[in-house]
Order: sequence, then C-alpha cells, then structure tokens
Amino acid sequence: MADKSFFIDTTKCTACRGCQVACKQWNMNPGTKTFQRGSHQNPEDLSFSTYKVVRFSEMEEEGTVKWYFFPDQCRHCLEPPCQSTAESAGSKAITKDEATGAVLYSPKVKVKAADFKTIRESCPYDIPRWNERTGGMTKCTMCFDRLREGMLPACVKTCPTGAMSFGDRKAILEKAEKRLAEVQVHQKEALLANAGDVRAVYLLADDPARYHKFAVVENTIGVTRKVALKRLFRPLNLLAQRIG
Ligand code: SF4
Ligand code: SF4
Repeated sequence: MADKSFFIDTTKCTACRGCQVACKQWNMNPGTKTFQRGSHQNPEDLSFSTYKVVRFSEMEEEGTVKWYFFPDQCRHCLEPPCQSTAESAGSKAITKDEATGAVLYSPKVKVKAADFKTIRESCPYDIPRWNERTGGMTKCTMCFDRLREGMLPACVKTCPTGAMSFGDRKAILEKAEKRLAEVQVHQKEALLANAGDVRAVYLLADDPARYHKFAVVENTIGVTRKVALKRLFRPLNLLAQRIG
C-alpha cells in the first residue's frame, strides 16, 4: 500500500453527519448520551468512543447567519508529535504504519494519566482521548483494517456529497490543489490547512478560526521541536529524579 491521505473539502460538506455515524458503526463504538446545547453539533466533542465529530459553528454577519462545518478527526501527521511524546515516556501505545502513514493507537496498551496528559498536549489538533477505566487511548484509525482489505475508510465511503476523498497522497494533494484553485476564483482567502504536515488535508474557504480553534495550526514545527527538546533532556530529567 502506498502513502495515503484524506482530502476533506468543507465547501461540499452539508453537515449531514453520515461520516460521524459510519465511523461509530464500523468501529462498533456506542452512541454518546447527549443533549441540545443550542447547537446542531452532537455530541459536544471527540471522546474515547467518538473518533470523528462534525463541528458546527454559527455566526451572524451583517444580519446574515453563516454556518461553518468541520468534520474533525486525527490528521495522521507526517511526523506525529503524539508518537514522539509517547515514546519519550517509554510507551509503545502509538505506532505508525510505514506503508500508508496511518498513525495507530493500541487501546489495550495502558497509559498513565500523567503521560496521557502530555501526549494530548503535544497534539497540535487536540485529538487523543483516554479511557480512565481501562487506561487506553483512542482516535481515528484511518480504518486501517478496511484499507488492508482494499476498502475505503468508512467515512469516505459514506459521504454523499463528495466532500471526503481518500487515496495515494500524491494524487490526493493534486486533487486538493486543483479544487483550491477553483474555490479561490470566488473566495480568495481559501486555503489547504497544514497540507505539508498532515494526511487529512482540509480545504477551508474562509478564516480557519471560524471553523474550529484547531482547524489550522500556525507552527507545527514548533510543537515538534518542543517535543524533541523534551526527549533531548529526558536523560537529564531522569537523572535529576533519581538524585532527588
Ligand atoms: S493529529 Fe494529533 S493524534 Fe493525530 S497523528 Fe497528529 S499528533 Fe497524533
Ligand atoms: S458525510 Fe460528508 S457531507 Fe456529511 S458531514 Fe461528513 S463530510 Fe460532511
């Protein structure tokens, strides 16, 4: 299998939540108890049993209501900071499939609460979630089990509008660039979010902050460097702990 990527074209997303439901169904995750919070977003956030959530953001501008939809999921970073952080804590809970680039969590590998906190903090997109009862972590798996059988990820297969695509990274990036040029004819500020760093590339037609706080990260390299520095000084920290 070659290096893979998603392309998520938010200009085609109608927020039907088909991808969110397909993800739950394929992974046999239970429904989340929820209630109306004044938004159509449901549930409120990602969780141990919700790997994908369609975020709704509603704004009023010059008397007109604008909606922004953002199907949020793990970006499968090319250099995943979550994995570096886990490894620096001595955990083997996170691996990367070298063929596809999928970043995979092993929910059966126990992670301590303090280590999970640093792993989650190191993710530029705030994706990892943890089960307090089992000590395991979860997130989107890129439907790795489906890929092995030659199938598309469940969310992509389900999307009725063509907002989600998946395939070889080179072809996906070409598709994303082509679509960006089309959208920019009418919406000059349109962009591809962190396309060089991630395997889930979002096309946003407006200010990223309107979609989601973590839609675009300004400095993923900075985050990676922070993690790298932590790793560099780990032997010194351990020595200090032992002496202390
Ligand atoms: S988006 Fe977060 S959880 Fe996903 S691979 Fe990147 S750092 Fe890890
Ligand atoms: S299935 Fe497609 S159109 Fe529906 S919410 Fe997901 S990305 Fe948007």
